[in-house]
Amino acid sequence: MEGEHIVLQKQILSQSWGIGLSAEQSAFLRKALGDAHEILLFSPGDLEGITADKASGQPYVLWVASSCGSALDRLHDSTIVLLASAPKVLLLEPGYSIEDFEKACDAGFTDILRPPLARERVADIMRRSLESHALHYDMECMSREILLERELLERKNDILNFLVDFLSKATESPDLRHLLQRAYASLEKFLPLRSMHAALWERDSGGSALLSLHICAPEQSACRELWREKLLEHARRSLGQAFAVAEVSSLEPCGRARQSPPAPPEEEKLLVLPLVCDKESLGLLILATATERHLGRDQALALDSAIRHLSLNVKNLKRFRQMQMFANYDALTKAHSRRHFETRLDEEIERFARYGGPLALIMLDIDRFKQVNDSYGHHSGDIVLREIAAILAQSVRSTDCCARYGGEEFAILLPHTEHKKAEILAERIRKRVASHLFQIEGNAALNITVSLGLASLAIDAPASKQALLRAADGALYEAKKRGRNCVCSAPQVQKSPAAREKMA
Ligand code: GH3
Ligand code: MG
Ligand code: MG
Repeated sequence: MEGEHIVLQKQILSQSWGIGLSAEQSAFLRKALGDAHEILLFSPGDLEGITADKASGQPYVLWVASSCGSALDRLHDSTIVLLASAPKVLLLEPGYSIEDFEKACDAGFTDILRPPLARERVADIMRRSLESHALHYDMECMSREILLERELLERKNDILNFLVDFLSKATESPDLRHLLQRAYASLEKFLPLRSMHAALWERDSGGSALLSLHICAPEQSACRELWREKLLEHARRSLGQAFAVAEVSSLEPCGRARQSPPAPPEEEKLLVLPLVCDKESLGLLILATATERHLGRDQALALDSAIRHLSLNVKNLKRFRQMQMFANYDALTKAHSRRHFETRLDEEIERFARYGGPLALIMLDIDRFKQVNDSYGHHSGDIVLREIAAILAQSVRSTDCCARYGGEEFAILLPHTEHKKAEILAERIRKRVASHLFQIEGNAALNITVSLGLASLAIDAPASKQALLRAADGALYEAKKRGRNCVCSAPQVQKSPAAREKMA
């Protein structure tokens, strides 16, 4: 900057303009200003069309003969701009009138030299002009710096807004798909994004991985197929192991419907961002940008932080899902856990209390299961438990809840199911189990039977979880007593006699 300053000062010192000067006036000025200065001489007519691009530099001072002072009024706008920062000095000729003097003030002359011309006055004007130009130059530098600072601040502000938006949205939902949609919406505001695509994977202990692909392109379109291939190509590179695709779903930025049709992948406009947390590779994002674009350092750092945060959230959500699995499902049979069953039962009882029934419950217990363990080993017993759970899962509706209630005991909750229909289902399950051949250790095939107890709440029964459980348990006990491999129904749980009397 210092270098620039010196150059600018040299330019300023080397040039001033004289307008309509007499030979005598210009000779005097040349002498007064010294050899380092050049005075370019113009007649007023020469000046009229001169613009910044034609001028070889801005004059440092404008020396104007009083006979030509009024000619400055007729100048072209761009010439006026060009001359705006130069002090205008009027050189009065002998015989000037007082009116000329006033006109000179009105015309914006900053100094007036009267004859006889004095060298000290010229030197003084030159010195002041030098100071004011230096000041002008400094102010220009400062305003350029302020503009630059403002631009930088705006960029930092954009980055900050992006990070705040990204980080707050990333923790809004415990759902992986929502997490990606929200990340997409934030990234879209930060980068000129065309589309975003993601591959997330889960490695299993057997050395392979299960992929879920999230693609921003309409189902069954050629474009979607190309993005699928692109995701698989990058997943293959990152994983370096066998994998299978478990699911493919559509990805859209949260809260915005697609505006332009999606474009196929173009290699030079892709940003491939690995999702890694604690050295565990979790997946990758592909961002398709509208232009081939190099990120600034701050932008790259912000994007890196955002992606790290996203990775952490992906990992947390995976952990959360695992915990949910542990809490809600039985590890051996994959049936629902007793804990989950109790929660569902509470909810259904509440619904029953509010909207009424029907509501049925089946308790199932494997017959003489101890003998299976004793004769064929615990592992064979486990196989039987798993197969029975599978038979149950295939026999009920998705709205029913089938759970492992205890060791070899299962419970089936049947919302909106009449007693009679529940009986038919219980009998169907009994028959399916009885006719199934259980393949256990050592290629032996076993016949197993189950006993089932059924209970239901009558329309006007009190919404009592305990009463329902007790009735189903009693019915199961009865089925065991009757010789096993059968279904026993408890009488419907009714309104208590006291309540009945009260109603009457
Ligand atoms: P009943 O017909 O009267 O129900 O006779 P049972 O032998 O089925 O009943 P009992 O209560 O005497 O035995 C239940 C057995 O279930 C005992 C226990 O070892 C076994 N069991 C409970 N949980 C598991 C399990 O997770 N795996 C295996 N293999 N066996 C289990
Ligand atoms: Mg039992
Ligand atoms: Mg049993």
